[in-house]
Amino acid sequence: MSFDYDLFVIGGGSGGVRAARIAASEHGAKVALAEEYRMGGTCVIRGCVPKKLMVFASSFPAAIAEAQAYGWDAQIGGFDWTAFRGKLDAELDRLEKIYRAGLNGANVTVYDTRATIKDAHTVCLASGEEVTAKHILVATGGRPFVPEFDGCEHVLTSNDIFKMESLPKSVLIVGGGYIACEFACVLNGLGVEVTLMNCSPLLRGFDAGARDLVVAQMEASGIKIVTGIVLDKVEKTDDGFAVHGSDLRDAQFGAVIYATGRIPLTEGLGLEDAGVTLNRNGSVKVDEWSQTNIPSIYAVGDVTDRINLTPVAIREGHAFSDTVFGGNPRHFDHEMVASAVFTQPEFASCGITEEQAQEQGGAEIYCSAFKPMRSSFAGAQDRVLMKLVVDKSSRRVLGCHIVAPEAGEMIQMVAIAMKMGATKEQFDATCAVHPTMAEELVTMRKPSRSY
Ligand code: NDP
Repeated sequence: MSFDYDLFVIGGGSGGVRAARIAASEHGAKVALAEEYRMGGTCVIRGCVPKKLMVFASSFPAAIAEAQAYGWDAQIGGFDWTAFRGKLDAELDRLEKIYRAGLNGANVTVYDTRATIKDAHTVCLASGEEVTAKHILVATGGRPFVPEFDGCEHVLTSNDIFKMESLPKSVLIVGGGYIACEFACVLNGLGVEVTLMNCSPLLRGFDAGARDLVVAQMEASGIKIVTGIVLDKVEKTDDGFAVHGSDLRDAQFGAVIYATGRIPLTEGLGLEDAGVTLNRNGSVKVDEWSQTNIPSIYAVGDVTDRINLTPVAIREGHAFSDTVFGGNPRHFDHEMVASAVFTQPEFASCGITEEQAQEQGGAEIYCSAFKPMRSSFAGAQDRVLMKLVVDKSSRRVLGCHIVAPEAGEMIQMVAIAMKMGATKEQFDATCAVHPTMAEELVTMRKPSRSY
């Protein structure tokens, strides 16, 4: 049977674009890709990239305060959100063009339209046109989840933050994960009064000691944190929004942002019609090769809800193309994937937490918390934390948790050693770089706790 394409990719985000480019340019496949919105997906258009630029923008007031403490006669003026947003839009346009050029350069046919699946080898475009492909890759990502409640239509999500006309004076952020905590710090840094509300403790699932330090410093920086409250109503008022919930009556905010998780974008995609099995939360069920139960249909990235991070989607997409089109069967190993939460202070992790180590036993914890030289000199009370979880018998470093400025940059390096199976003794045999914060990672002599 002949097909229009060897591969049809649905979704032009990190995973889909990588898979399409590798299949076409490195393995000579005839590839098409459909994207209904903007090329680049969540990461580029409304996620990691604009978020990180906002993190940079929000860091200047603290930097100026520190400069003053170091003797500079420095003053910060007001923040021009409109000017920043204009530059942000231009940057995203530039990146989108690069993604598009990459696909064009690889001879991938791009359809700027929504595509759905008709059957194991057929894709329907919004125009009504049908195209066939030997393989279909679903890389549609996810979208923010907002629970149903009275007035939920008034709340914003992370998608809307980058498009706000002006910054509100005050904001209520609901949620306690990566997105809620990152935006709480960003908006606080930009001068917005931030209240962060979650049912359970913030950053649940992360190493508790590290998480507690991040939360304490977020509070010290002026973010009001409320836990244990369930919000049940949001009303629009003349000046903003009134919110109601348990122990909360008529509290007023300039904006309400929900960051209560993301859900896979599989609705209306035709997957069930094609016989593809979905997980209970709607994500596409795949095996380690990213293959669904229908052999010609694969899925990568957030739509599969494995580890929802851009670099993971990219690796999954690349491995898929090498396997299916490159004669090089390999799958992405989801062990020891490092990540960073871009809060203030930054928080980065790789491997298991102290709580997981305690549960499984046979582990030592090496931990150091201290005032870093730079902010300590400026009179700040900030503390940083470095923690290693070490397997007692193999001596392998199984977990690393860092709370510190540039923790994301540090964990990238540590993750290489951890992925190679480095032991605590190999960490210690590595000479320290002095004076740095990260030198603590190779100088912690005695375990703080043992399980
Ligand atoms: P998360 O799943 O990380 O967190 C969701 C939060 O919302 C949890 O604190 C949860 O509370 C809370 N929550 C869930 N339902 C409700 C509800 N009905 N009412 C109130 N609170 C609720 O989701 P995010 O949206 O923060 O992030 C989504 C994904 O995006 C993450 O999995 C992450 O992988 C990725 N991401 C990664 C980033 C990075 O690498 N820096 C940055 C941003 C996103 P509870 O703890 O009680 O469940």
